[in-house]
Amino acid sequence: MTEPRQVIIAGNWKMNSTPGGAGQLAADIAAATRVDSVSRVICPPYVCLAPVGAALGGTGVAVGAQNVHSESAGAFTGEVSAAMLVGLATWSIIGHSERRRDQGETDELVARKLVRCTENGLRAIMCVGEQLAERRSGKAEATVRGQLERMLAELSRLGAALPVDLVIAYEPVWAIGTGLTARGADAAAMAQLIRAVLGDAGAANAGADLPVLYGGSVTSATIDEFLAEPDIDGALVGGASLKVDEMAGIVARAGLTAAARAKSAGAAAR
Ligand code: PEP
Repeated sequence: MTEPRQVIIAGNWKMNSTPGGAGQLAADIAAATRVDSVSRVICPPYVCLAPVGAALGGTGVAVGAQNVHSESAGAFTGEVSAAMLVGLATWSIIGHSERRRDQGETDELVARKLVRCTENGLRAIMCVGEQLAERRSGKAEATVRGQLERMLAELSRLGAALPVDLVIAYEPVWAIGTGLTARGADAAAMAQLIRAVLGDAGAANAGADLPVLYGGSVTSATIDEFLAEPDIDGALVGGASLKVDEMAGIVARAGLTAAARAKSAGAAAR
């Protein structure tokens, strides 16, 4: 039987929560989202990784970082390397649009971050997505293709391969934190494009097996449109990931998708 792709719900807490309160919030989210068929990940700020990790022990919810530095070590004051995260996190977001915007991160830099994740056993959620003007002018797909191709070119220059456990988050920049969402069909078309571009690069899991998440103002009320699309495998959730009830609703909906996909994979195998 061909295994269906994992359904993944990852929460990006951004610069919210404190070490004093983060563990309780994470524990509450874990208790409200007990759906084994959904891979759940919480990405708190660095300083909350330890208390969140302690609170999530035995819950099945994984801990992720929101970023890693592109170098292994050195004179980079205030930065955090992937190696420093070992034992604190098993996943990391890289290339989030807020970092591309605020820290000027390029696709080449994101590729180097991906290499650091791979070297240190962190599963990367790499973000791509277009600006509103690019969507309006019909350039959304070309933009995302360009981001992936520049990332791939840098990997090739470094002699590095795409990791087999890579996850891509398609996050239209204009939908992040705005209350606007993409149309499910547009997100699904982008997921197909992402699999095609990475599949053409010959990477081990980059074709049909590559999980592609949608991100951008996902809530328990908007998730349905995306999970109804067979090409979308879950969500990267920002603001709503800080709300226990919202996460409960989002993960419950994701559980329905995971169950339906497992059932149709089982039927196809008979
Ligand atoms: C994000 O931070 O990746 C995100 C999608 O944020 P929001 O859900 O708040 O739009």
